[in-house]
Amino acid sequence: VPRVLSGIQPTAGSFHLGNYLGAVRQWVALQESHDAFYMVVDLHAITVPQDPAELRANTRLAVAQLLAAGLDPERCTLFVQSHVPEHAQLAWIMNCLTGFGEAARMTQFKDKSAKQGADRASVGLFTYPILQVADILLYQANEVPVGEDQRQHIELTRDLAERFNGRFGATFTVPEPYILKETAKIYDLQDPSIKMSKSASTPKGLVNLLDDPKTTAKKVRSAVTDTDTVIRFDAEHKPGVSNLLTIYSTLTGAGIGALEEKYEGKGYGALKTDLAEVMVEFVTPFRERTQQYLDDPETLDSVLAKGAEKARAVAAETLAHTYERVGFLPAK
Ligand code: ATP
Ligand code: MG
Repeated sequence: VPRVLSGIQPTAGSFHLGNYLGAVRQWVALQESHDAFYMVVDLHAITVPQDPAELRANTRLAVAQLLAAGLDPERCTLFVQSHVPEHAQLAWIMNCLTGFGEAARMTQFKDKSAKQGADRASVGLFTYPILQVADILLYQANEVPVGEDQRQHIELTRDLAERFNGRFGATFTVPEPYILKETAKIYDLQDPSIKMSKSASTPKGLVNLLDDPKTTAKKVRSAVTDTDTVIRFDAEHKPGVSNLLTIYSTLTGAGIGALEEKYEGKGYGALKTDLAEVMVEFVTPFRERTQQYLDDPETLDSVLAKGAEKARAVAAETLAHTYERVGFLPAK
C-alpha cells in the first residue's frame, strides 16, 4: 500500500477554507486507499513568535478539527510532530546536505520574512522547508497531499532525497506531490490575487471554519468579484468569481459547467447568497463536531498517544538507518 504524509500548522486557532479544500479534504479521502500519516506540525509553528499557552491550545484544537473533518484514527496515523523527536534529528542531517543558496531560493521564506522584516525573521523560518523534508522522508512517503504553495518544498524534498541516496546509497523514497488541480489554490475573498492564508490573509478575505456561521455568510456575500456581471469560470480574467465557483463546486459536488448554467442571466448577488448558505451548512456541523472532540480530552489524548507510537516506530527505523549511512558511530 502506498504511503502518504502531510501536516498542518497549529498557528492560528481555526483552519481556513483553503486548508480544508486544498489539503485536509484529500487527507480524508486518502486514508481509504493509502497508509496515511498526518500530523499537527508544532515544530513549524514556532518559526514565528508564539505564545506557549496558545500553542498548546491550538495544537489540541487542530487535532479536534482534523477529527471533525473526518480523519479516523483507525484508518490513519494522527500525531503531533514534537511527540516524535526523530523529526528534529533528521532535520539536522538534511540541513547539512542543503546548500545555503538552495535554501535561500524558497519563495515562502522570502514572502514570510519580508512580512516580518528580514532582521526579525528567525533562522528556523529560513530552514523550515528542510524540517519539512525530514518530516516527509522519515516516513518514506510516496505522496504528499498539499496545496500548490508547497510544490517548491516537495521539489526540494525530492532533490535532497536523491542527493542523499546518491551519496550514501538508497535510503529514502523519493516522494511525489499530490496536488489536485481544482483546489490547489483557494484565494483570499477580498484579494483574489493572493492565496487564502493563516498568516497573510485580510480578515474579511479569510474564511475560518470555526467563525460564527453568520460571519462566514457575511464574508462570502461581500467577496470581491469584478465589474462584469457574467458568472463564468475564467481564473485569469475573473479570479474572484472563479474562486467562488471552485469553492461552490467542491463543497456541493456540482460541476462548474452546471453552476455556470444555473446562474446564467443572474447576478453575482444570487451566486454569493447561495454559496453563503452552502458554507453555513458546511461549517455548522463542523464546528459542533470540533467542540465535541475538544470536550473529550481523554479520547483526544489517547488518539495522540497511539498515533505517536505508530509514527515513532516508522521514524526510528528510518533515522537509525540514516545515522548508519552518514557514518555516526553506533552507541553501545
Ligand atoms: P501560513 O500562511 O502561516 O503558512 P497556511 O494558511 O498556509 O498558513 P499551513 O498550515 O501552512 O496553512 O498549510 C496547511 C496545508 O494547507 C498545506 O498543505 C497548504 O498547502 C494548504 N493550503 C494553505 N493555504 C491554502 C490555499 N489557500 N489553497 C489551497 N491549499 C492551501
Ligand atoms: Mg503555509
